[in-house]
Amino acid sequence: MTMAKWVIGAALAAAATCGVAIAAKAPAGSVGGVDAKKIIAAAPGEWLGYGRDYHEQRFSPLDQVNTSTVKNLGLTWHYDFGDRQGLESTPIVHNGVIYVSTDFAEVFAFDARTGKKLWNYEPNTRLWQVNTCCSPANRGVAIWGDKIFVGALDGRLIALNAKTGKVAWTTQTFPKTTRLSITGAPRVINGVVIIGNGGAELGVRGFVAGYDAETGKRKWRFWMVPGKTPNDGDASDTAMKNVAYKTWHGGEWWKLGGGGTPWDGMAYDPALDLLYVGGGNGSPWNAAMRSPGGGDNLFLGSIVAIKPETGQYVWHFQETPGDSWDYTSTQPIILADIKIDGRMRKTLLHAPKNGFFYVLDRATGKFIQGTNYAPVNWASGLDKNGRPIETPGARYGDTGGAFVAMPGPGGAHNWQPMSYSPKTGLVYVPVAEGSYPYKNDPTEGGTGRSKLGFNTGAGAFSATVPTPTAANANLPGFDTANGHRDAYLLAWDPVKGKAAWKVPQMKNFNGGTLSTAGGLVFEGNQMNDFTAYKDDTGEKLWTFDAQTGVIAGAASYSLDGVQYVAIMAGWGGTTAPYSSHSDANGPARLLVFKLGGKDKLPPKPVYEPLPFDPPAQTDSQETVARGGSYYVRYCTRCHGGGAAGGGLGASGPADLRRTPFIQSQDAFNQVVVKGDLKHLGMAAFGEEVTEDKATAIRAYIIHQSAEAKKAGLK
Ligand code: CA
Repeated sequence: MTMAKWVIGAALAAAATCGVAIAAKAPAGSVGGVDAKKIIAAAPGEWLGYGRDYHEQRFSPLDQVNTSTVKNLGLTWHYDFGDRQGLESTPIVHNGVIYVSTDFAEVFAFDARTGKKLWNYEPNTRLWQVNTCCSPANRGVAIWGDKIFVGALDGRLIALNAKTGKVAWTTQTFPKTTRLSITGAPRVINGVVIIGNGGAELGVRGFVAGYDAETGKRKWRFWMVPGKTPNDGDASDTAMKNVAYKTWHGGEWWKLGGGGTPWDGMAYDPALDLLYVGGGNGSPWNAAMRSPGGGDNLFLGSIVAIKPETGQYVWHFQETPGDSWDYTSTQPIILADIKIDGRMRKTLLHAPKNGFFYVLDRATGKFIQGTNYAPVNWASGLDKNGRPIETPGARYGDTGGAFVAMPGPGGAHNWQPMSYSPKTGLVYVPVAEGSYPYKNDPTEGGTGRSKLGFNTGAGAFSATVPTPTAANANLPGFDTANGHRDAYLLAWDPVKGKAAWKVPQMKNFNGGTLSTAGGLVFEGNQMNDFTAYKDDTGEKLWTFDAQTGVIAGAASYSLDGVQYVAIMAGWGGTTAPYSSHSDANGPARLLVFKLGGKDKLPPKPVYEPLPFDPPAQTDSQETVARGGSYYVRYCTRCHGGGAAGGGLGASGPADLRRTPFIQSQDAFNQVVVKGDLKHLGMAAFGEEVTEDKATAIRAYIIHQSAEAKKAGLK
């Protein structure tokens, strides 16, 4: 295969400049396995980290599949996981083996040439789903030495033998008395496995921590928000005491959680030896409830640079001071060296939920420039230091009123990985515009804290949920909770701070991106397409019908001189709870392509949903309305807005409007109050959902079912 000269040059230069300090630190015993040197060198044919290399650019230097040849790209093998789940993981590829994770952190290894399954490992985490905001997704595994690492939903960090899938060690990363969870992919730096956690809707204190890759022993822990006292922390004591603690005022945030959960984005600069971690939103969302005396509430909505061997704080940059809108900064981080105003800068590129695209100096954390990449109304812009200029009234907690903010809690960009091409200088971002009616609600999150439901303090459980109609409900992108307006693949010029081009996508989330030296950008969407676009114009060059929505980011690798493109296909995951049931929800599968590939998918299965068959409504409108607010608080995050289904299909939470369990209150209570379906991940809610509340929730679902039937939905 041919490779552009600049690519080889760049790869060698990167290896030479970065490898010196690191090579000496590679631990003994990793010979033949994966070590820092290998990850830094980032051999073009391998995919050794979540975002390919430590800079997480998701740029493949391979160019056999290119703008001229992509028309011959064909499926060469596929693997069906046997159900319909939302898949979000990016494959890891090493030594001819491809490693992926599926929902609930099940891990699979395949022969990367043939698709032959080598092993799988099931960690059994279904019971923990009740402690998640947005599905039991898992974004991938990590590799180091002879081991594969996965973070399980219930907080176990698990090391597996890469050859056999046998457990080498397991470490519980948080006490099971908290409602934290893991959905992100671990990173491994110099023998330290790094993983964070999520759960800031549920009342938690987030942290990121490093564990010894050989033993699983924790080496350090960096809290993202302070505890009750300035010294309430671990390795990050100095950062808590000297930096974060003094930005929280009044209130008892340590009882409410505080949040800051770093559940996804991380990147590493080997030359600077800095690990970059994106912090999550406030817990509860409403800042006035969390920190009534004001303050920026570090490290919410921030990028934090720390030392990966010790967890020591180096710098931070806060994108959303005093977050009140679920504006996490945990979206994927990209490191790139870019010429700006005539000089090369070591930048950090970031498109967090809050709608602004940031270019930072990654050595110092200083703001270089930033512009909104989607419609934003909570701030009118950024000042010269990159601090948002807030719109009066946006702080609904201070006004005691309501504010419909753009973007909404889904963010203008969420976990779907963006990619950067050093060839075009563009960043390819999956964007979803949205808005959300935040309102001050002291009954939720403060005194009315729930052990089993959301705690946002922002009226999340009393928000009006639009009822699906015949006209909109069967559209895959109809969004019942967030009011998403528009979605597109955005090619963003970080130097000019403006769009180079956009390709419209169906509403709500579109997929992660991969860019390549072949001049291509690959992206999936929920219309079942996996598509290659021309990287400088957005022209559509090739598309494949995956028979299911595609939301993950693709990887590319090469073996025996052949380039492959691999993508996890499966609609659902975090997109499901916040959209109505989708026709895009087909078989969950791993798809692998090469030029001239001859594999064929079986015919798309026909799913016959249960008919709408609501029993007669015996409860009052008042009860239905009350049931609707309980529903949003306890049920939406798995079963979808309007009870219209989590889109997880046969294997996951159902479209409750069709469930036989609404036929009798007894049957309904057995499941909801008592927990008869615990083995499938449906927790017993009896601790809070009394029989009276269960009656109201059932009345609401019967109402939704009757409405759907009346509207003639199929
Ligand atoms: Ca959140």
